[in-house]
Amino acid sequence: MSLKSLIIKSSPYLVHTGIHNLTGLFYRGIGHILNFHRIIPKQARQRIHQNSMYELTPDYFSDIVDYFVKKKYIFPKLTELQDLLRTGSKQKFVIFTFDDGYRDNLEFAYPILKKFNIPMTIYCVVNFIERKSLLWWNILEDVILKHKTLKLKLNNIDNTFNCNNFSEKADTFRRIHNFLNDEQSPDFEENIGNICKFINKNPYEYTSELILSKEDLIEVFNEELIEIGSHSVSHKNLSKLSEIDARYEITESKTYLEQLCNKPINHFAYPYGSRRHAGSREFEYANQAGYQTAVTTRQANIFNEHSKHLFALPRIEITSHWERFGAKKTLDYLIGLNPMIYNKFQKFVTK
Ligand SMILES: [Zn+2]
Repeated sequence: MSLKSLIIKSSPYLVHTGIHNLTGLFYRGIGHILNFHRIIPKQARQRIHQNSMYELTPDYFSDIVDYFVKKKYIFPKLTELQDLLRTGSKQKFVIFTFDDGYRDNLEFAYPILKKFNIPMTIYCVVNFIERKSLLWWNILEDVILKHKTLKLKLNNIDNTFNCNNFSEKADTFRRIHNFLNDEQSPDFEENIGNICKFINKNPYEYTSELILSKEDLIEVFNEELIEIGSHSVSHKNLSKLSEIDARYEITESKTYLEQLCNKPINHFAYPYGSRRHAGSREFEYANQAGYQTAVTTRQANIFNEHSKHLFALPRIEITSHWERFGAKKTLDYLIGLNPMIYNKFQKFVTK
């Protein structure tokens, strides 16, 4: 069993023990950068868990915000982080970040944050804004939910997938998702094309419906509380790209967003962001591209020492898996014990 699945399996017990309070002193750092994807009401949710785990309800999100407000955290902009780490802060801080540029960030998360004057950073992907990339995981889910059997060619091999009941559908989703996870594979485009044959609308409509448009972003740039960051051109696993291609993803997305909105883009989020997806090489490229900060998805808190590692900032990801525990228990655990287990007792996490 992998460490990650062990953590997920044991979390219901650990969350209830209160043991996480003991780790607070050592692992909680001076602040946290939280990582979200979508905030949407339950009825609008996708139904296969692997897809919907990145979707939180506005109520739960609101409870998360309340948790930090009640604990008297401060809410700096990401742009203020560098100074804050250098000069130090008596109060703990938390920064809210959102990946991929979903429309619901503005519709459901922003009003909740605005009530408390809390800033947010939204990391956008150029090809999503340009409607040139597909949200294939949403298309795949729709196809599976609508079919009982799926005859699908993947990597030029004919497959038959059973989708008779929910557990078969979830299993099929997982299996096909694993197949498609390598977007750099030579068969990727054809595989996606085969899935799109099952839908009767333009597959790019999914991107248009769910992701912020150019016009939205131009408006967003005038909002005092919202910072836009880059999340690359095409959301590829940067570590698998050549130097030229990886640098292009990091630099070109900055230029594109700056030209779109006529403002500097200072922050970058590595696509996927785990150790398999971004490391020292990518951190250096982000630094050289002229960003102020770049965030990963290593699950850890921020310490003063991160002032020297601004291109390898860890975050705390909150998925719907935790919703059933309520915000307080979730956060006590996710910013205390979880980073300790996840990073095998390493406190200060960069690489
Ligand atoms: Zn992403």
